[in-house]
Amino acid sequence: MPLALPEIEIWFVVGSQHLYGPAALEQVAANARHMVAGMNDSGVLPLRLVAKPVMTTPDDIRALCQQANADPRCGGLVLWMHTFSPAKMWIGGLRQLSKPFAHFHTQFNRDLPWSTIDMDFMNLNQAAHGDREAGFLHTRMRLERTVIVGHWQDRRALARLATWMRAVRGWAALQGAKFVRFADNMRYVAVTDGDRVAGEMRFGYSVVSHGVGELAAAAAEVSDAAIDALCREYEACYEMAPELRRGGARHGAVREQARLELALRGFLERGGFSGFTDNFEDLTGLRQLPGLATQRLMADGYGFGAEGDWKTCAMVRAMKVMGAGLPGGTSFMEDYTYHLDPERPLVLGAHMLEVCPSIAAQRPSLEVHPLGIGGKEDPARLVFTARSGPALNASLIDLGNRFRLLINEVTVVEPPAPLPKLPVARAVWAPKPDFATACAAWIYAGGAHHTAFSQAVTTEMLLDFASIAGIEAVPIDGRTELPRLLNDLRFGEVYWGLGSAFARV
Ligand code: MN
Repeated sequence: MPLALPEIEIWFVVGSQHLYGPAALEQVAANARHMVAGMNDSGVLPLRLVAKPVMTTPDDIRALCQQANADPRCGGLVLWMHTFSPAKMWIGGLRQLSKPFAHFHTQFNRDLPWSTIDMDFMNLNQAAHGDREAGFLHTRMRLERTVIVGHWQDRRALARLATWMRAVRGWAALQGAKFVRFADNMRYVAVTDGDRVAGEMRFGYSVVSHGVGELAAAAAEVSDAAIDALCREYEACYEMAPELRRGGARHGAVREQARLELALRGFLERGGFSGFTDNFEDLTGLRQLPGLATQRLMADGYGFGAEGDWKTCAMVRAMKVMGAGLPGGTSFMEDYTYHLDPERPLVLGAHMLEVCPSIAAQRPSLEVHPLGIGGKEDPARLVFTARSGPALNASLIDLGNRFRLLINEVTVVEPPAPLPKLPVARAVWAPKPDFATACAAWIYAGGAHHTAFSQAVTTEMLLDFASIAGIEAVPIDGRTELPRLLNDLRFGEVYWGLGSAFARV
């Protein structure tokens, strides 16, 4: 069963005031309902907008923000000032609002009615200055938000709103989420570790540890009938050599991954977990490192991080939720090895086993090969090449006083030659703006070797996510120049170092 998406909606909140009289306010409310219906019918938005009453007093606004905080269906709010709405009315509500909001700077009519425009029209359609009053207050209060500009029927404005909604959905998927960490961090590894207390305070999810022995015990309880049924599914879904099929000499290795998949899935479902980490250094009681099992759970929407990497695990989950329904997949990934042809340098991304088949270009091949490290039996895994096209790598690191999200846009390419001996799934890419700049920028910024790789999630989505989370974001894209990026990193040290000086009030 795929892991469900958060069931949330977005409240569309229009600001006004009583100065204009009841007829004008009725018109504002009718316009808002018309706009919400139109935007919901556009087919562009991944979340439903819900029209809320027009806000005209501080008490209404405070009550609405309290309702938004308390209602689990409310993922976030879109604010828009149809008329002028004196912004001091909003202080009491916004200072306690805990849900993300976007400020949609739009207008009911697209065109001005040049031949008929009069003062009634002018009084009704005041977003051009009403939204500036609102924007001042948001900035004065140091509120993180996304500002979206354009007519509400314009596809570009709607696409921008859709991007923000996806970030909101990714954020909602982390609130109250639990991730299970089997075993600890890979010994001596720095970047996969970090402050889990700070992580929970910042991102709203918890990371809980369970001994590998509990997973081993669950694996021992899995029935042969359940394993048989799952192996039939494997044979239907993947290319498999005869020796791996039922009755084949090496079918046992596939059955072991089926056992692990069923044990892991049951453990995650019973515990209400949204993902997990493991560590090849501690597989006590398991016969194989989970490979195929992990790949299939990722394909069903679960987060995953290898070697105890809880931060990447949660990012994989959040980004799967953000990208849900879009073409392309999202996977745990690692920059593994390089092709340093000076004419066309490339990165080969892969992991020991755990790459999600949602990014595959072709039907994956289920294979069994030795692992080389870890000292366990040969694990079954899916082997494939990622489909070509635009993608990105995202890495969340803990800098001690803050989290930083690095985003590097890449172009996935066909491998320049076949890889007949490589027994793992892989993606081959050229990073933007160019190999040398991208790698230097990543390393200066402290980016991890582990990433959440996505063909569906965009930089803009992740910047919205970082804004909602209140964390630093460092995009490395086609426009990145190293000297400027180094300055941005230095400025970031000052900005984030000042911390409480930028407190909201
Ligand atoms: Mn790794």
